[in-house]
Amino acid sequence: MSAMDDLAAFTRETIALGEVMGRLGWDQETVMPRGAAPQRAEEMAALEAVLHARKTDPCLGEWLAAAEPASDAETAILREIRRSYERATKVPAKLAAEIARVTSRAQGLWAEARAADDFAAFAPTLEEVIGLKVEEASAVAEGRPLYDAMLDDFEPGATAASLAAMFDALRPGLVALKDRILGAEEAPPPLSTTFPEDVQLALSTDLACAFGYDLAHGRIDKAVHPFSSGSGLDVRITTRTDEADPFNCFYSTIHEVGHAAYEQAIDPAYLLTPIGRGASMGVHESQSRIYENQLGRSPAFTGWLLGRMRGAFGDFGVADAETFARIVNRVAPGFIRTEADEIHYNLHIMLRFDLERALVSGDLSVADLPGAWDDRFEADFGLRPSRPSEGCLQDVHWSVGLFGYFPTYSLGNVYAGCLHAALRRDVSDLDAALAQGDTAPATAWLREKLQRHGSLRTPVETIEMATGAAVSEAPLLSYLDEKFSALYRL
Ligand code: ZN
Repeated sequence: MSAMDDLAAFTRETIALGEVMGRLGWDQETVMPRGAAPQRAEEMAALEAVLHARKTDPCLGEWLAAAEPASDAETAILREIRRSYERATKVPAKLAAEIARVTSRAQGLWAEARAADDFAAFAPTLEEVIGLKVEEASAVAEGRPLYDAMLDDFEPGATAASLAAMFDALRPGLVALKDRILGAEEAPPPLSTTFPEDVQLALSTDLACAFGYDLAHGRIDKAVHPFSSGSGLDVRITTRTDEADPFNCFYSTIHEVGHAAYEQAIDPAYLLTPIGRGASMGVHESQSRIYENQLGRSPAFTGWLLGRMRGAFGDFGVADAETFARIVNRVAPGFIRTEADEIHYNLHIMLRFDLERALVSGDLSVADLPGAWDDRFEADFGLRPSRPSEGCLQDVHWSVGLFGYFPTYSLGNVYAGCLHAALRRDVSDLDAALAQGDTAPATAWLREKLQRHGSLRTPVETIEMATGAAVSEAPLLSYLDEKFSALYRL
C-alpha cells in the first residue's frame, strides 16, 4: 500500500463516521423522542472525541509527507486533508473540548434568552464563546487577521478585506433599488385565506421533484428550522409549514433542494472522500439561492406555480399571474433575516458582518451589542427593533460559535448572480421551460458546470470555471434591478 492509499482508506473511514454523526444530528431535529436529549448529547460527544482523535492522528502527518498524488482528484484530496490536519493539530485538544462544551450549553441558554427577550441573561455566555473562538483563531491565524482565520472554516480563501470590498460595491445599488420599490405606489395585496398543511406538503414534494431532488436517495421531513444534511447516496431535507403562508413551505423546500441536489449530483467517484462535498458554504448557498430565487421566484416559474396552487387549493383570491409574481416577490423591510426578501436579505448580512468583526476585534463589547444592533438596523431599514428577539438574539449562529459564517449567505447570492447570468447566456429558452414547470435545462446546466465537481477546485475557481468569468457583484445587481423594475413597474 502506498502512503496515498493508506491516507485515502483512513480518511474514508473518518468521513463515514462523520456521516453517522450528521445522521444523529438529523434524527435529533426530526424524530428523536424529546426525553432522549441527555443521552444523545453523550453519544454525540463520544463520537466527536473519536473524530477529533482521527483528524489529529500522527499517522496523517507521516502519510501527508510521503503521499504522491496521481490525478487532479488526488491532488485536491491531499489539499483538503492537509487543510483539516493542520488546522486540527494547531488547536490544543483542551481548547477544542472547551469550545464544544461551552457552545453546546450556550445554544440552550440562547434559546431561553430569546424566548424571554432577556439579552442580559445570555451576555456572559456570549462573551465566553467569543473569548474561546478568538483563542482558537489566534492558534491557527499565523499572523493573518483573526477574522480571516475564522472565515477559513466556511469559505476557504475568503478574507474580511475582500468581502468588505464586495459588500461596499453591492450596498449602494441595493439601497437605491429598495428605496425605489418602497416609494412605488402599489404594494401587492396580502393572501387572505388559509392553506391546509397536508396539501402544502404534497405540493412541496412535487416541487422538490420538479427541481430534480432524488427521493430514492433522500427524504423530506418537518423541522422547526429547515435544513439539508448528508452527502452522496443519503441526502435529506426538512421543511416547515404555516397555514397562512404557503410560500414559507414551498420556498424553504426549494432552497433546501438546491443544497441537496448539489450533494446528490457530485461525481460518485468522490463518494466518502474529502472532495465528495460541496466546495464551501458560499458555493453551497449559491445553489440553494439560484434554485429558490432566480429560478423558483422567476415570473415564468411562478406563473406555472399559480396554476398548480389553484389545482391544489382551489381559487384563493389572486386574480392573475402578474399579481401572483408580485406577492411571491414582495419587498418590505422587516426585523427577521430568514423572512427577508432578495434585496433586504443582503442588508441583514452586512449588518451582521460588520458587527461580528467588531466583536472579534474587541472594538464592540458584548454589553454594547444590542444598542449597536438597533442603531444600525434603524439606519439601514428605517425601523427600530423593540425587543432582542427582533434584534441581536434572533439568530443561533453566534451562540454556537459560528463567527465568519454570515457573510457566506450574501457571497452565495453574489455567486448565484454570476451563475444565473452565465446560465441565461448558455440556455436561450429558459423561461419557456420554467413556464411549463420544467427546471431541467437549468438544473442540468448547473449539474454539468458546477455540481458534479464537488470540492475538486477552490470555491472561487469552482464559480469561475462554471461561468467563464471573474466573480463580481455586478450580475446580481443587474438581475435584481431588471426583475424588480419590471415587477414594480419602476
Ligand atoms: Zn441555505
